[in-house]
Amino acid sequence: MTDFAPSVLLIYTGGTIGMIENPETGALESFNFDHLLNFVPELKRFNYHINTYSFDPPIDSSDMEPYHWARLARIVERNYEQYDGFVILHGTDTMAYTASALSFMLENLSKPVVLTGSQLPMGMLRTDGKENLITAIEIAPAKHPEVCIYFERDLMRGNRTTKINAEKFNAFKSYNYPCLGHSAIDIKIKPERIRRPDASRPLKAHYLFDTNVVVLTLFPGIQESIITSGVRSKGLTAGVMRTFGSGHARE
Ligand code: ASP
Repeated sequence: MTDFAPSVLLIYTGGTIGMIENPETGALESFNFDHLLNFVPELKRFNYHINTYSFDPPIDSSDMEPYHWARLARIVERNYEQYDGFVILHGTDTMAYTASALSFMLENLSKPVVLTGSQLPMGMLRTDGKENLITAIEIAPAKHPEVCIYFERDLMRGNRTTKINAEKFNAFKSYNYPCLGHSAIDIKIKPERIRRPDASRPLKAHYLFDTNVVVLTLFPGIQESIITSGVRSKGLTAGVMRTFGSGHARE
């Protein structure tokens, strides 16, 4: 490995990708992330400097909160100069929320932050975790300075992506922006779809969150009392209403 080799910081937060079956009980347990190389010896073949950072204990992504987003943003901010790219291993259930939040928290980001995970644990024979991890690392120092999700061969813009399936390997979809890239025999990234940051502007991380918000989805026949109790909640600072058509609601 040369000193010019790209450098990647791999951050492990938890989720299925880091699980292994206990051979005695059959229960799924988080494995010690320091042993990652035992499961993915292929990582040794990368001509990259790869360092790891692990949440201790790892968390299921349904326990993710803005506090954890801030923790991730801070890790990226503190290590920004030392690395060419960042890979975040994350549970799939709220991966799209984290990717979206980070994309707004990391203003002027000019390096890739790639989130990935898996549907089957790394310790299972047919796991999708290996391919997701290997390709996410391979593309981490590439030229797509965005927070994105790499999953089942698609590279997607983080804040356009939704989890759509809990059964299939193809778990994510980018609904209102085309994929940024795709991996097959070659890994093809579409430069015309990638955002173009002004690399002369320094990274500015934002940490302020307000979770006193409500999202109300209207449906035909929704009762006024339900809406009223939602918008009159104590401490509420903002509400988002998902209404019909171009913003209609019946009085
Ligand atoms: N419950 C897990 C999580 O989101 C599921 C997964 O990783 O796919 O952390």
